[in-house]
Amino acid sequence: MRVKVKNLTKRFGEVIAVNSLTAEFESGKLIALLGPSGCGKTTMLNMLSGILPVTEGQIFFDEKDVTDLTPDKREVGLVFQNYALYPHMTVLENICFPLKIKKVSKAERIERAKEFAKMVHIEEYLNRKPKELSGGQQQRVAIARALVKNPKLLLLDEPLSNLDAKLRVEMREEIRRIQRESGVTTFFVTHDQEEASAISDYIMLMKLGEMQQYDKTRNLYNQPANLFVADFIGSPTINQLHGVYTKGGIKVDGDNQIIKTNHKWQVEEGSRVVLASRAEAITFNDKDDIKTKVVESYLSGKDTLVNLKIGSYNLRGYIDATKPIKIGDNLNIGFKTEGVFLFDELTGERYYE
Ligand code: ATP
Repeated sequence: MRVKVKNLTKRFGEVIAVNSLTAEFESGKLIALLGPSGCGKTTMLNMLSGILPVTEGQIFFDEKDVTDLTPDKREVGLVFQNYALYPHMTVLENICFPLKIKKVSKAERIERAKEFAKMVHIEEYLNRKPKELSGGQQQRVAIARALVKNPKLLLLDEPLSNLDAKLRVEMREEIRRIQRESGVTTFFVTHDQEEASAISDYIMLMKLGEMQQYDKTRNLYNQPANLFVADFIGSPTINQLHGVYTKGGIKVDGDNQIIKTNHKWQVEEGSRVVLASRAEAITFNDKDDIKTKVVESYLSGKDTLVNLKIGSYNLRGYIDATKPIKIGDNLNIGFKTEGVFLFDELTGERYYE
């Protein structure tokens, strides 16, 4: 099912938790709602489920306006961070419960519950109580319970944050698999950009209630809409050199060189800008002529991650680990075309060519 929101707004008194958000979400995809704490992710999810009434705007499921429908009428499956399983019920009873409410016959409830228990790989534990399961297993039960009603929409609110690091990675792959197998349009709230990038088809990145970019996951990395997006997505964090645009290049603060790249950005002379570059966009070829100094270096697989000083700033790049590097060395660098962006320092808006 396709989801559309139009000027969606939620205010709590003075606080604008979600500010006039308009977007259309494709059917059958896994969409991450991503952003720092307090940016409005959970509020957005709760408006989609119907738990929270909207202040302004509309929500459409396919062509139907569901803005004023109660949660039970929206046919959504919800999974929370704390699983919220019924402790006195077995796994089977937990999964069956939504069907019992819907007055589905006992035989059919059990058949469907077993089908979903199998999908989430917990069919061996049907007779256990939640406290006899690990965190990851409890989360699987919660997902099966949400899916058993054949919801049109699956909403997951930080579903992995109570799990340890290794299990988190395992479970995110499981969520991806389950979502693909079930084909249900799924929203997944997280503040972890790596988690969002690893599993989602699309990411909506938010800041202070406002959408920064809604796009295919790889586009947030390759084509960030603004400096906030460029900075939030990616590890190591994107390099950022602040300076002045002058004579067709960037004069970085604290440095006398004018850095020229292959780009033809439309920038006014004298503008304060930020030259941002992914670590893998830094080159170390013989003809490269931008002077830097090595501050630190770390082994990173077959490469060395070097931390370089240029003017008042540091930047990181990957260099072949066979090249001998010492702290204090002078090292010339260049910039590739891809993975290099220019932003307005004040507004964070991107300059295009
Ligand atoms: P987190 O990652 O910390 O869960 P979030 O991105 O999910 O954050 P929300 O919980 O949606 O953020 O909150 C968005 C903003 O709305 C915050 O400033 C928050 O303090 C505020 N807010 C949320 N719920 C309420 C409420 N019931 N009453 C008042 N303010 C609220």
